[in-house]
Amino acid sequence: MSAASDYQRLRAHLAFLRMGAAAEALPGMLDEATKAKLGHSAFLERLLAVEVDAVEERRQASLARFASLPSPFTLADFDFAAQPSVDPKLIAELATLRFVEDATNLLFIGPPGVGKTMLAVGLGHAAVAAGMRAYFTTASELAARCHRAALEGRWATTMRFYAGPRILIVDEVGYLPLPAEAASALFQVVSHRYLKGSVVLTTNLGIASWGKVFGDDVMVAGAMLDRLLHRSVVVNIDGDSYRMRSHRARAEAARKAVAGS
Ligand code: ADP
Ligand code: MG
Repeated sequence: MSAASDYQRLRAHLAFLRMGAAAEALPGMLDEATKAKLGHSAFLERLLAVEVDAVEERRQASLARFASLPSPFTLADFDFAAQPSVDPKLIAELATLRFVEDATNLLFIGPPGVGKTMLAVGLGHAAVAAGMRAYFTTASELAARCHRAALEGRWATTMRFYAGPRILIVDEVGYLPLPAEAASALFQVVSHRYLKGSVVLTTNLGIASWGKVFGDDVMVAGAMLDRLLHRSVVVNIDGDSYRMRSHRARAEAARKAVAGS
């Protein structure tokens, strides 16, 4: 068999195995290998590394798409000096994602604008970077999706969907009171994930006012809190809204400029 037909067959094998990146890199790498007098195993290793990198990149991109994180902010972008009630050591520990291993839940509680969503999203990006499946949704989006699922007879599939990711971020619980049906949907999602996967939840309501989220259904609120808090880290953030803070800083600077002129 000639070198040319070997080459053709090798291309065909790579195409059959859907190793497109390796197939594409093959001619250049063969030339290089000849020039550098690479041994068989060294050559094969380099060729496969090209494919491994390409697959890894695709998997990363697909995890990132799936996660649906609403902003690109990472934990490194969080300004801890601006938010003294957030312990940087705690966030650094959470960023190791060890909390996911035993399905610990995470509650960010605080008024609007203090960075709850930013921290949750930052953890989401950390999870994606670590090759973990994460999914971001808001409480009202989750409720709407469950509502549609119930109407269309896809309840079980939808529960499986929300049970799937290692980390499920549910943003903005409590901003709007959830109708009974929505509260029950959220409760069931939390129950399906109980001890299996972490829920990262952000809310403006202190735990004592959780009855309100559930339309004063104390039973559901209590049962939900049991499951959420059984294994959990609660991060209470009190402090000024970051937006208001930068707004105030700008206003202050403008006032000074005007006063100085
Ligand atoms: P919350 O979810 O608590 O209402 P967000 O996370 O949406 O607050 O934060 C509001 C805005 O302020 C966002 O644009 C966010 O990126 C920014 N922000 C809040 N806290 C910080 C912080 N400590 N460092 C940098 N940006 C922050
Ligand atoms: Mg928010």
